[in-house]
Amino acid sequence: MTAPTLPGLAPDTPTPIPADTPPTPGTRAARMALPMSRQVLKEMAAEYGVCLHPVTLRRTDLHTGHTEVIDLPCGSTRDDKCPPCAQRALRLRRTQIREGWHRIDEPAPAPTPATDAQRELILLRAHLEFARDDAARNSQPDQVADVDDAIREV
Ligand SMILES: [Zn+2]
Repeated sequence: MTAPTLPGLAPDTPTPIPADTPPTPGTRAARMALPMSRQVLKEMAAEYGVCLHPVTLRRTDLHTGHTEVIDLPCGSTRDDKCPPCAQRALRLRRTQIREGWHRIDEPAPAPTPATDAQRELILLRAHLEFARDDAARNSQPDQVADVDDAIREV
């Protein structure tokens, strides 16, 4: 037994759809149109420097008990993960390098004030160093050895 057919149409021929008809909601055609709008939204967010993958946190005010949900930037430093956050991290890192945050050691602390005896020893050492250089410059190796002994003693 066959289904009844309209005259002039073959039984397997689908009804023609006009080209400018919007896709029916919920159909595959409608779903295929959505990723394009999502991509445009991501591009706009990147253009305005907004994080593409925000982290959602719930914040509670301990005094009032009021709770709210806030979005924080992901803070990624990789351009393929989140370009706006990576650009922001790059700017921050450049500023830190300019200000010297990259140093791995702290500058040496200032020395404590020396006593009078320490000042005299430093002065004597400086005089002996000068005498040693003078003797070395004038080719007097016996005096250089004597001054070295005195420096070692000081
Ligand atoms: Zn981000």
